[in-house]
Amino acid sequence: MQRLEKIAKANYGKALRECSNNEAYYALLEMVKVITAEKEEIKGDKKVYYISAEFLIGKLLLNNLINLGIYDKVAEYLKENGKDITEIEEVEPEPSLGNGGLGRLAACFLDSIATLGLAGDGIGLNYHYGLFKQVFRNNLQNEEKNPWIEKDSWLNKTDISFDVEFGDFSVKSRLYDIDVIGYNNGKNKLHLFDIETIDESMVKEGIKFDKEEIAKNLTLFLYPDDSDEAGHLLRIYQQYFMVSNGAQYILKEAKDRGVDLHKLNEHVTIQINDTHPTMVIPELIRLLMKEGIHMSEAVKIVVKTCAYTNHTILAEALEKWPVRYLKKVVPQLIPIIEALNAIISEKYSDERVQIIDRYDNVHMANIDIHFGYSTNGVAALHTDILKNSELKPFYDIYPERFNNKTNGITFRRWLMHCNHELTAFIDKLIGEGYKKDALELEKLGAFIDNNEVLAELDGIKKLKKKHLREFLKKSQGVEIDENSIFDIQIKRLHEYKRQQLNVLYIIYKYLEIKKGHCPTTPITFIFGAKAAPAYVIAKDIIHLILSLQELINNDPVASRYIKVVMVENYNVSKAEKLIPACDVSEQISLASKEASGTGNMKFMLNGAVTLGTMDGANVEIAQLVGDENIYIFGESSDSVIKHYEKRDYISRDYYEKPMIKELVDFITGEELLNIGNRENLERVKNEFVNKDWFMTLLDLEDYIKVKNEIFKAYEDRERWLKMSLTNISKAGFFSSDRTIADYNRDIWKLK
Ligand SMILES: *Cc1c(COP(=O)(O)O)cnc(C)c1O
Repeated sequence: MQRLEKIAKANYGKALRECSNNEAYYALLEMVKVITAEKEEIKGDKKVYYISAEFLIGKLLLNNLINLGIYDKVAEYLKENGKDITEIEEVEPEPSLGNGGLGRLAACFLDSIATLGLAGDGIGLNYHYGLFKQVFRNNLQNEEKNPWIEKDSWLNKTDISFDVEFGDFSVKSRLYDIDVIGYNNGKNKLHLFDIETIDESMVKEGIKFDKEEIAKNLTLFLYPDDSDEAGHLLRIYQQYFMVSNGAQYILKEAKDRGVDLHKLNEHVTIQINDTHPTMVIPELIRLLMKEGIHMSEAVKIVVKTCAYTNHTILAEALEKWPVRYLKKVVPQLIPIIEALNAIISEKYSDERVQIIDRYDNVHMANIDIHFGYSTNGVAALHTDILKNSELKPFYDIYPERFNNKTNGITFRRWLMHCNHELTAFIDKLIGEGYKKDALELEKLGAFIDNNEVLAELDGIKKLKKKHLREFLKKSQGVEIDENSIFDIQIKRLHEYKRQQLNVLYIIYKYLEIKKGHCPTTPITFIFGAKAAPAYVIAKDIIHLILSLQELINNDPVASRYIKVVMVENYNVSKAEKLIPACDVSEQISLASKEASGTGNMKFMLNGAVTLGTMDGANVEIAQLVGDENIYIFGESSDSVIKHYEKRDYISRDYYEKPMIKELVDFITGEELLNIGNRENLERVKNEFVNKDWFMTLLDLEDYIKVKNEIFKAYEDRERWLKMSLTNISKAGFFSSDRTIADYNRDIWKLK
C-alpha cells in the first residue's frame, strides 16, 4: 500500500486519508496500472483473437483488484483510512461498449481466456459515446450520449496505427489497449481501434449527428441509427474499419513472432462474434494476397483460421448488405466476395446457401459458414435449431463444422465481485476451490437439510435486497420494501423477450387487488431495459411500463401490495446490484427465440429461482436443477416453430377470451390514458390484437398460473431456500471458464 500512498502524494500532495473519493479512485487506477504493467503477458505458440463489435466490459477497478488477488488488502486499507471501496467505485464511469448479452459474453470470455492462461486478445472499436445513455422523461425513453473516456482511464494509447482505405478516401487509425488480467494469472489485451480525426463536437442534441462525415464520426457510437441509407453505410464503414485494423494487427503480430504466413492457421485463430466482423474473411484474403500468396491458397488458409459464433435465429439480425453499398465503401473487397460467391455457386445450386442472392445482397453469415472451419450455437437447444431448421441446408453440407458451446459467465464479476456476502458464505461452507473449478459448487448440496445454513442464506438475500433498496432510493428516489418478493426482468427491450407478458400479469394482479384478492407477501416488479432508438414498439412498451409504474405506485390500496420499478439506464453496474437481490428471475422469451441468455445464469448463481420458458439455456438450467427447482410454463420450441410454419397463430382468437380481453383493453382504458399517451398505448394494444408476432397471448394463461404458483411457493420459506441453494449449487456448469475450456478443446486448440 506504500505504492498507493506514493501516488497520492505525487498527484495530490497528501496522504490517502486526506484524499476525496474522486482522488482515491484515480490513485487506485494508477496503482493497478503500475502493477499490471509488471505482470507477464500470456504467450503461446497459437493465439486466439476474439473479434467483436461489442465488449460490454463494465467498470474495471474492483474486478481488476480481485483478479490481481489484492482486493481484500486494498479494501481493508481503504477502510483503515476512512474510505469505503464501494463508494470509490461510484467515481468510475461505465463504458457502454455493448448493447446486451452478446457484448457481455465477449467481456466474460476475455476474463476466462486470461484466467485459463490462454493467449488471446479482443479486437473491437473505441466508441467515444458508446451505445447511449437512457433517460426517462414524461414516461418515455430519451437517448443521450454516454461519454466515458477521460484523461485518466483504463485505455493505454499505443504507437500502433494503420491506414484503412475506403472507396473514396482513407483514414489513419490509432490503437488503444485495455489490459485484461487473468484471475491469479498473466495478462492479455483488449485492442480498441479509433481514429484521430474524430470530432466529438458533432453530436449536438441527444444522439444526432451528421452521418456522412465519416472521418469525424466513425467511432462516435455503437450501432448508430440505421433507418436510412447513410446509417447503413456508416455501419459498413465501422465494420470494415474494425476488421481491416484487426487483420492488419493480427498479421503484424504474426510476422513479428516469425510466423510463416503460409501456416498462419497453426499459430492464429480468429473467433468471429456474430456477423458484424464477417468482412475479416475477405480482408484477410486480400492482405495475404498482397503478401504474395495466391488467392486459392489464401482462401484455404483463411478457412482454417476463422471460426464463427451464431447468436440468434431472428432473421432481422442476420445481416445482409447490398452489393452497391459494399462497392461504395469497400470496392477492394468486391472482387474477393465475388470470387467466393463463384466458388459456392459452382458447387451448390440451393439458393439458400449462396453468398450473393438474386437481389444482389451479400449474406454475411453465409460467408462465415462457408469460409470458416467452425460454426457454433450458444446453447444446446439453439444449436439444435440451427442444425435442424434455421441453418439446415448448411448443416447438410458441413455436419462436422457445427458444434455447440453453451454460454457462460465469469464468476469473478457475477459472484465474487457483486455478492461478497454470498462468496464469503460459500467459502466458509466448502472452501475456495470452486473459484478455480466451478463444479465444486455442487458440494453445497450437502447442506440442503441444514436449517442454520438455509437461515443464513435467507439473511444474505435479505441484506442484498436492503442494499438494492438503498441504492434505488439514492439513485432514483423510489421506495421499495425489502420484505416484498423481488421479481426482476432485466434485459434488452425486445418483443421476443416479452416484457409485455410480464406487464399483462401486473395488470392482472392490479385488477385482482381491486377485487379484494391481495397477495400474502407484497411483490415488487422490477424492470431494466434499453430499447433501440428506432424500435418504435419497444419504446412504446417502456412507456406502458412507466405509466403502469405511476398508476400503481400512486394508488393507495394497490401500492401496499405491489410496486413497479423501471430502473433507468440498465447497464452492467446496475445488473451487479439487481441480480444478488432477486428472488424470481424472469426468463420468459418465446420458446425458440432466445439463443441462450446469460442473465438467467447470473440470477441462478445468486440464488434466484427461475420463472421461464423452455428456451435457450433455461433448458439446461432445468436439466441441472430438476423440475422441482424451476418454474416452467408455455408452449415448447417445437410447437412454436410449427405455429410459424403453419402460420396458424391468430392473436385475435386469444384476445377474444374474456379474461385476456380485460387485461389487454386495460392498456387503453381510462386509468392508463390519464397518465400515458394515447398514441403509444394504442400501438401496444393494437400489436397484441392484430399481430403479436412473438405470441404473448398464446402463453398468457399458463404464465399467470405458474407465476401464481411461484409466488405461493415463496411462502414456504424452507422449501424456497432449498430451491435457492440448489440453484447455486448447480450453477457451476455456467462458468465461462468451462465455456472457454470447451472452445479451446474443440475449436481453438491453443495448448
Ligand atoms: C448479462 C447481461 C445482459 C444479458 O441478459 P439476458 O437476460 O441474457 O438478455 C444484458 N445486459 C447486461 C448489462 C448484462 O449484464
